[in-house]
Amino acid sequence: MKLRFLGAAQTVTGSKTLCTHRNRRFLVDCGLFQGAKPKRLLNWQPFQEAEKIDFVVLTHAHIDHSGYLPKLVKEGFKGPIYCSPGTRDLCEVLLLDSAKLQEEDASFANRTGHSHHRPALPLYTTRDAENALRLIQTVKQNDWVDLKDGLSLKLTRSGHIIGSSFVQLGLQGDYRSQLVTFSGDLGNGRSEIIKPPVSIPETDFLVLEGTYGDRLQPRGNVRDALRPLIHQIFERKGVMVIPAFSVGRTQEILYHLRVLEESRQIPTIPVYLDSPMANHATQIFLDHPEEHLLRFNNGELHSPICPSCYSAVKSADESMVLCMKDGPMIVISAAGMLTGGRILHHLKHRLPDRNNMVVFVGYQAEETKGALLQQGIPTIRIHHEEVAVDAEIKTIEALSAHADYQDILDWLKGLKQPPTKIFLNHGEPAALETLAQKIKATYNFNVMIPKPNEEIDLARIKSELNGRTA
Ligand SMILES: [Zn+2]
Repeated sequence: MKLRFLGAAQTVTGSKTLCTHRNRRFLVDCGLFQGAKPKRLLNWQPFQEAEKIDFVVLTHAHIDHSGYLPKLVKEGFKGPIYCSPGTRDLCEVLLLDSAKLQEEDASFANRTGHSHHRPALPLYTTRDAENALRLIQTVKQNDWVDLKDGLSLKLTRSGHIIGSSFVQLGLQGDYRSQLVTFSGDLGNGRSEIIKPPVSIPETDFLVLEGTYGDRLQPRGNVRDALRPLIHQIFERKGVMVIPAFSVGRTQEILYHLRVLEESRQIPTIPVYLDSPMANHATQIFLDHPEEHLLRFNNGELHSPICPSCYSAVKSADESMVLCMKDGPMIVISAAGMLTGGRILHHLKHRLPDRNNMVVFVGYQAEETKGALLQQGIPTIRIHHEEVAVDAEIKTIEALSAHADYQDILDWLKGLKQPPTKIFLNHGEPAALETLAQKIKATYNFNVMIPKPNEEIDLARIKSELNGRTA
């Protein structure tokens, strides 16, 4: 088999690996490039011979792993898309949302003349996303599926978000079969609500993510950090605004609030979830108990992860009314990095009052509004208005859905035999370099960092190594 790293090679987005085995061509993940403009422009390049791709396998639903599917379909791909049931459910929400954003971007460019193309067209439309969703075929986790021509597929739990899976490919050879494993995004096993990654006892080749390959995340207790902040908000009748990513982070926060309340560590306080997508993702979470890891002392309230005084805000009007409401209360809204969405309305109303508090629970990329608030700027521009920042700004770390280098090293311990080769992807160059050194130092495994578009022939690697040991 040959691998070509079309995306997530020495970068963190656009996950897309082209695999060729005998006469079959397929993709593992089909993600969108995100972030800086030169990266995003890559999404617009034509995909060569999309109609000749036999199938796609997804590790999980995050847009940087699935968001290119509607474009691939638009360019002629008609094969099946294999993924777990949880991934399918989340893709329905995420791909349609992504298409809506593409359409909105194009119409914004047309209104403002911000485009060289007239008229500006979306990368793909809702219709393309619907066509992609129709091609999905779910695969139960833990069972081998025969894909013909000596190729088989197994998905197992990777503990990152609902549905996230390791993709294992079995290749029938002339002498013995071989295994190729893709980690996708690896969970860190510290979530209290979703099950940890399973271990992979054997694989000949491993494509491993390294997002946090040079970082150690704090191991502190989230509830210990959250508890005093909620007491403060309650006493001064303020509003706590939590910007959170819709899939994963929001459900974790709801769960922690619920446990704090149920164990009487905090008073009952109204909690509003103001993000239609997060609300949808929470429902999908509840629909997949097979992936849960929930522990409760008492019986269940009205939903197993939500606090008792919980409301999901639906319409934009309701959201506006909520902005006017008096505290004490907690408002969870998206986008997590304040790049857009309803969270901006809440901040505009709540930031000028020092009784309020903004609590960050996720990574804030450089130069985002989130990062500026964390740096302590006195005013911030929201919707063309300069808004005074008098509210308290806090950050709770220890809530990431990715593995850091120690988690990755611990997970590699599960391998009974050294793999022939590990390929590191999905990380910035410095993170991957550090991780490669740590893996070599700890296990003496063979590691390489593929370049963008580099083609790697697994049979050749195998025979070269055999030649060396012969
Ligand atoms: Zn992910």
